[in-house]
Amino acid sequence: MRILVSGAGVAGLSAAIDLGRAGNEVTIVERANHLRVNGSPIDIRGTALDIAAEMGVLERIRDSRLDMSERLQFVDASGTPLAAPPAEEVSDSAEDLEIAREDLARLLYEALPTSVTLVFEESIGELEQDADGVTVRFSSGGRERYDLVVGADGLHSRTRSLTFGPERDLLRHLGFYVALAEFPGARDDDPINPMYNFPGHLAGIAKYRDHALAVFQFRAPWIEYDHHDLEAQREILRDHYGRHRQWRVPELLEAACADPELYFDSVSLIEMDSWHRGRVALVGDAAHCASPLSGRGTSLALTGAWFLSEALREYPADLERALAEYEDRQRPHVTRAQATAGPGGDLMLPATQEEIDARNARLSGQPADSRVSVASRAT
Ligand SMILES: Cc1cc2nc3c(=O)[nH]c(=O)nc-3n(C[C@H](O)[C@H](O)[C@H](O)COP(=O)(O)OP(=O)(O)OC[C@H]3O[C@@H](n4cnc5c(N)ncnc54)[C@H](O)[C@@H]3O)c2cc1C
Repeated sequence: MRILVSGAGVAGLSAAIDLGRAGNEVTIVERANHLRVNGSPIDIRGTALDIAAEMGVLERIRDSRLDMSERLQFVDASGTPLAAPPAEEVSDSAEDLEIAREDLARLLYEALPTSVTLVFEESIGELEQDADGVTVRFSSGGRERYDLVVGADGLHSRTRSLTFGPERDLLRHLGFYVALAEFPGARDDDPINPMYNFPGHLAGIAKYRDHALAVFQFRAPWIEYDHHDLEAQREILRDHYGRHRQWRVPELLEAACADPELYFDSVSLIEMDSWHRGRVALVGDAAHCASPLSGRGTSLALTGAWFLSEALREYPADLERALAEYEDRQRPHVTRAQATAGPGGDLMLPATQEEIDARNARLSGQPADSRVSVASRAT
């Protein structure tokens, strides 16, 4: 089959690996001019670990394994640790692997079969399908015909909106936003990843290896802005954090506004009854974003790409049957992942000071009104 994959994230690269190895002629188009490798380390869990093994990348993932969640601590405005999230609330099992996004992207990129073509700064402009194929007009002006188009272009997928209609009909905003940026101001001697809350907001520092990230999460209803407009995203962050002078919020905000690769997005679910229509199929966040709060978006990207390729191998002469099989195998993983997304927000960014205190008390085993830090109790 001649297959076009839109998007070179985890879902797109994985789909290209699996489909390319199965003998298909695969082209990936990626809108950015490079692999988008920024963002915080991500988890690979459950069935996705078995699939990574089948793909032949599990050992390399293990070799790059990080161990960040254990060092996460909620702190007060003076930076004093108050409580840590229990391991069972941030991870499924000891088998889970945590890996830097840049490491995962690089090792998937290196695993691409040589037959796969990857084109940067290219994207689908329009697509039109009939019974025999899909005609794609690219934003650069070219036209090509494919047997199958795989939309792996993330939460704000253009493939999805061209095929299934407007994003607003399929996206459920969970009431949170997230931002991540490089943070050059991290201190080497800081042994923890501090997370500081003020009502409805979190600001933190996530360090791994020689890297540090400024982390932001806040509660807000849906905000209309252009997803490609970096300045608009900086402005939203300034609106939410600019007046807060406590802890290290000002320097974190400054770093975020200076980072040309700032990652900013709503915490949202994509909810769809079906992920294919004719000769267009969606994988990863484009199909079923479970949000960063689920901690399972990358695992779903790996499983979905695998099930799609597996079903196409099993039903080479029946595309409709293959795409239906893909959905049947992937759906239970998505249902479970999306169900875990909402409660994560309550743990990381309680809405009021009372809820922040109650969370810290619960996690440290202290009465909610004692306001005594773990560190000061120990001395
Ligand atoms: C920069 C970035 C940082 C992230 N950081 C985190 C994080 O810290 N924690 C977390 O849980 N999740 C994060 N995510 C989301 C996480 O990567 C996904 O949930 C998961 O890996 C599934 O990936 P995906 O490939 O489906 O989507 P994505 O990772 O969003 O990848 C989609 C890819 O498609 C490309 N693309 C978008 N539109 C088009 C288009 N029209 N044409 C061609 N290409 C297009 C994008 O540039 C991107 O490379 C991040 C995503 C991105 C893009």
